[in-house]
Amino acid sequence: MSGERADGASPDGLPPLREVIRAHGLAAKKSLGQNFILDLNLTRRIARAAGPLDGRTAVEVGPGPGGLTRALLLEGAARVVAVERDERCLPALAEIAARHPGRLDVHAGDALAADWRALVGSSGKKPVIVANLPYSVATLLLVGWLETEPWPPWFDRMVLMFQKEVAERIVAAPGSKAYGRLGVIAQWRASTRIVMTLKPEAFTPPPKVASAVVELIPRPVGNPPASVEVLGRVTAAAFGQRRKMLRVSLRQIVPNPEELLAAAGLRAEERAENLSVAEFARLAYIFERWPTEAAR
Ligand code: SAM
Repeated sequence: MSGERADGASPDGLPPLREVIRAHGLAAKKSLGQNFILDLNLTRRIARAAGPLDGRTAVEVGPGPGGLTRALLLEGAARVVAVERDERCLPALAEIAARHPGRLDVHAGDALAADWRALVGSSGKKPVIVANLPYSVATLLLVGWLETEPWPPWFDRMVLMFQKEVAERIVAAPGSKAYGRLGVIAQWRASTRIVMTLKPEAFTPPPKVASAVVELIPRPVGNPPASVEVLGRVTAAAFGQRRKMLRVSLRQIVPNPEELLAAAGLRAEERAENLSVAEFARLAYIFERWPTEAAR
């Protein structure tokens, strides 16, 4: 494994990840999205992308055999709070916890059901969320974090691995093919950028597609202060029929889209893919206050 010292040992004194996987019988399960990163140099680069970790808690979804967890601890995270669904990984993670007393809390369970604030506590600097996400639930987890209330949220930033195609949707600009609901919500709540792309061979086993790490830094509440829930409803209607004009697609949520669009200063003939994030926010803000039953 790279990331080893010249004498073959890992810098944290723990066995190389291939050995950990062998010793604990952690054959990758496709159903759990298990594509592990075994190169500690690479996981340390991902950990460093989360900014200085000193004195911070890192929240990790799906530590698996612990490659990224070990990197976060080596890069100086004061504490790592991890949620892992696969109980087979727990003994391997317990060995990491024993090597770093008091710095690693592992919770067995489904990250989709986690109460993050309760797991993390509220003392000290805001935590960072850093994860090589299981792709089947990656978007759901991201949207959950983006919809956090109150805003600004309990976390300082997120550094997350997605399939490259999903990463491109998160950072997509208006007018591009990848621009859609996910990009509007992500960019309304955070400044977003792709910080690293990875070929399938970086993982064991390799997934079918390329991957990318996205950094999301929460923005202050926007102006006007559109509700993220309403923004979700408006973008669902608008992008649900993305080739249609807004005066057609928005009929799903309001009987008089032309008037709503005029009130928001938008052309009724415009298409969803050409609206900026700020324009969507203005539309959502006005829609929420629109005096019809359907708008409520
Ligand atoms: N962090 C490890 C790494 O980078 O090598 C493993 C990443 S692997 C892509 C995804 C991990 O998420 C697996 O360990 C898998 O068991 C776990 N996982 C899958 N679904 C989960 C869920 N709903 N909640 C928590 N963990 C989950």
